[in-house]
Amino acid sequence: MPELPEVENVRQTLEELVPGKTIDQVIVQVPKMIHGMEPDEFVHTLIGQTIEEVRRRGKFLLLDLTHCTLLAHLRMEGKFRLLNEQDEVSKHTHIIFHFTDHTELRFLDVRKFGTMEITHKKGEEETKSIQKLGPEPLSELFTLPPFAEKLKRTSRAVKTALLDQRLVAGIGNIYADEILFRAKVRPERAGSTLSDSEITRIYKETKNVLREAVALGGSTIRTYVNSQGKLGQFQEKLLVYGHAGEPCPICGTTIEKIKLNGRGTHFCPNCQK
Ligand code: ZN
Repeated sequence: MPELPEVENVRQTLEELVPGKTIDQVIVQVPKMIHGMEPDEFVHTLIGQTIEEVRRRGKFLLLDLTHCTLLAHLRMEGKFRLLNEQDEVSKHTHIIFHFTDHTELRFLDVRKFGTMEITHKKGEEETKSIQKLGPEPLSELFTLPPFAEKLKRTSRAVKTALLDQRLVAGIGNIYADEILFRAKVRPERAGSTLSDSEITRIYKETKNVLREAVALGGSTIRTYVNSQGKLGQFQEKLLVYGHAGEPCPICGTTIEKIKLNGRGTHFCPNCQK
């Protein structure tokens, strides 16, 4: 599933490609992907509007148009592609935004889990989807005291807490494992057992790992590629994720993989306390 760095990479690519384009037709092939209104209303709302800017909040892409904002969530495998209208439409294309310049922004999703909804312009914070999100980890709004307080109050595993988008937005399975490895904390530790210095390390590594991953275009794991088909490079920097059975890059102990709340979880039993 794309996490913050991958969604940010998609955002940056779309920001280069689609602002200034005016929608003159929308085709919705899979109605359940449209939330909050009927597909007909979705289509009619968008026709005639011009894309102005592409923003991101957590794992959501936000397309600001003339009169509204379109929220898109890629979920497991959703992808945007900018193509020409005469280009072949693959069978996994579920939503098409056709522009007046004869190009099309197509939303492809093998799993059909992706979602879109419309809110009034820059009104995303009023939607249920965005309202429940915690702070953006790479913004000034992500500060240590509330993060520490929430972690100390929970008996849940620290990794599970990091995956909870209410604590901090945008972290998924890959980056949670990398953050906790770099912070030298075991993923299954209850939040309430963490020391101040451990929490500070987790906080700092959250910023470091995500910042580095954004700079490298995210991680290309399985099917994720950005909107121009380019691959991210951060997968080469992953230290534990996908490395079960291999020696830890720090101490040489074999990296273990366990299931934690149903999620494959990688850690070094020696480095992480
Ligand atoms: Zn180690």
